[in-house]
Amino acid sequence: MNNYPNKLLLDPSPSANEAMYDLAKRLFPFPRSLTGDGVRRTLAEVQTLLPNLQVAEVDSGTRAFDWEVPQEWNIRDAYVLDESGRKVIDINTTNLHVIAYSVPVDEVVTREELDKHLYSLPDQPDVVPFVQSYYKRRWGFAIAHRERMALPRGNYRVVIDSTLQPGKMTYGELVLPGSEEKEVLLSTYFCHPSMANDNLSGICVTVFLAQWLARLQDRRYTYRILFIPETIGSIWYLSANLEHMRSKTIAGFVLTCCGDERQYSFLPSRKGETLADRAALHVLRHHAPEFKHYSFLERGSDERQYCSPGIDLPVVSLMRSKYHEYPEYHTSNDDLSLISPAGLGGAYDAMRKTIAILEQNYTYRSTVLCEPQLGKRGLYPTISIKGSTSGIQDMINLLAYCDGTLDLIGIAETIGAPAWQLVEIADRLLDANVIERC
Ligand code: ZN
Repeated sequence: MNNYPNKLLLDPSPSANEAMYDLAKRLFPFPRSLTGDGVRRTLAEVQTLLPNLQVAEVDSGTRAFDWEVPQEWNIRDAYVLDESGRKVIDINTTNLHVIAYSVPVDEVVTREELDKHLYSLPDQPDVVPFVQSYYKRRWGFAIAHRERMALPRGNYRVVIDSTLQPGKMTYGELVLPGSEEKEVLLSTYFCHPSMANDNLSGICVTVFLAQWLARLQDRRYTYRILFIPETIGSIWYLSANLEHMRSKTIAGFVLTCCGDERQYSFLPSRKGETLADRAALHVLRHHAPEFKHYSFLERGSDERQYCSPGIDLPVVSLMRSKYHEYPEYHTSNDDLSLISPAGLGGAYDAMRKTIAILEQNYTYRSTVLCEPQLGKRGLYPTISIKGSTSGIQDMINLLAYCDGTLDLIGIAETIGAPAWQLVEIADRLLDANVIERC
């Protein structure tokens, strides 16, 4: 079968894996949240790789279905000093130390009072957890539980130099037109500070998928590629673009948790059986047969919005280790050592295969009755001996199912061959006029 390479998958930039990891290293330190300058810096860095990315902003307070765009949060510094002036908590160690959306504070508090503003994980005593309070105004610090327990009695000065006030919510959007108006949605989120698998990996893979798509000649579908804050970003974007997206989107993918090497994961759409479900599942069955198949009940990202009742977009997630399911999830241990060029590259390859078979997923019909005479068209060995047809079994099987009812993915599922490797065979049969596209 390797004699039939898929031309779309011949990647002219073989160093993409390293480049994705390098991007993760550059973006890791930025203090990202739903809004603010950490997001602007992140999108500015992405624009160096995707110059056509449109960065836009929405005012705080803008209605979005049942929600409204939150105030803008910016963080400049955050620390806790003990009585000797030593920093016992310092945001410069990790952005996770400050609770996202903390209001500003600068006061001296007792150990007891301080403790009411500390968050830690007793069963993971050495990690700093990721904690947010987007919709209730408070201040706080996240800390390793072991360090929290070791803080002695006394007074502490707590400083959070932040602003939380009406401003903007920033997002990035790139639309790559195709020859058809039908669209494929790629959506990733950027609101997590200093964590790698969830979700720097999603940003990095999306950037390089966008570069690959931008280079594709004869793009069939239009690609709508979104960099948004999770939840409020997708809710707002849907509220502003619902009719268009509902009428145009044939498949969509939330890109998250695609950087480690442990496993592959699949999260279906709410309805299942959509084109996105079929394409991603087909790829995983061949690309990573050991993948874990989750239920929509285990959803956790923007598919919650894209697949909600009345929205009903065909959106799935093809991931490596899924959010909630790995021990480092939402902690300081989800760092750059958890992801790797190979981990990112595996997800990137799986997504490219998925998109390639969407682009090339046609339904075919045989133009002749009974088996076509392939030998006279140079498609079949002219001498017959046991084993002489083994290399063309997929061609014969493909032909046997070109009855005008199955698309390429359906045929590939039926005959047990990767769809992205059947494309070249189908093209040869088209050239020989023994099949036609319906
Ligand atoms: Zn998360």
